[in-house]
Amino acid sequence: MKLDISELKKVEGKFLSYNTRTELGSFGNEIVKNNDTIFLDVQLEAAYVPRRVLIKGKWLVEIGGECSRCLEKIVLVLKEELYDQFTQLKGIGEPGEGMARTDGQNGEGFVFSGDMLDLKEYFRQLVIMSMPLRMLCSEDCRGLCPACGVNRNTEECSCRQKSTDPRWAMLQQIKKE
Ligand SMILES: [Zn+2]
Ligand SMILES: [Zn+2]
Repeated sequence: MKLDISELKKVEGKFLSYNTRTELGSFGNEIVKNNDTIFLDVQLEAAYVPRRVLIKGKWLVEIGGECSRCLEKIVLVLKEELYDQFTQLKGIGEPGEGMARTDGQNGEGFVFSGDMLDLKEYFRQLVIMSMPLRMLCSEDCRGLCPACGVNRNTEECSCRQKSTDPRWAMLQQIKKE
């Protein structure tokens, strides 16, 4: 998604609304193991004030994957609100090549140059930051039985749950002696 800064400048100080679905490409990281393209739905309001673009709104993504415990297919829904501002740099970059990036040097937050503010990378970062540590179908997913492999959310198996690790058995033996 790209914001046309010249449009915003025409109504300086006023918020314009944008409702769009924007493609973020694939993630393919520790949490999202597939390379499916991810789309972000966003309801955004943006305004230009001298040398800054203010944005606010809310976004939602749906990410397909599988539960890391029971391996069932699931859709992870992430949604959050956003409030940020981007500072326009003078004389850097070609017109139309606005890019959101963090200015690590003086910690000013996001900056861009040119007359277009490209929010794709910014949105990708938002999504990555709001990802859970792993995909789960539910917080109390019981996973697969390590002995027989049944999905313990839907089936009871007769495997004993007590530890049968021979090393533990040996330790207990030592304790007794
Ligand atoms: Zn699960
Ligand atoms: Zn079992």
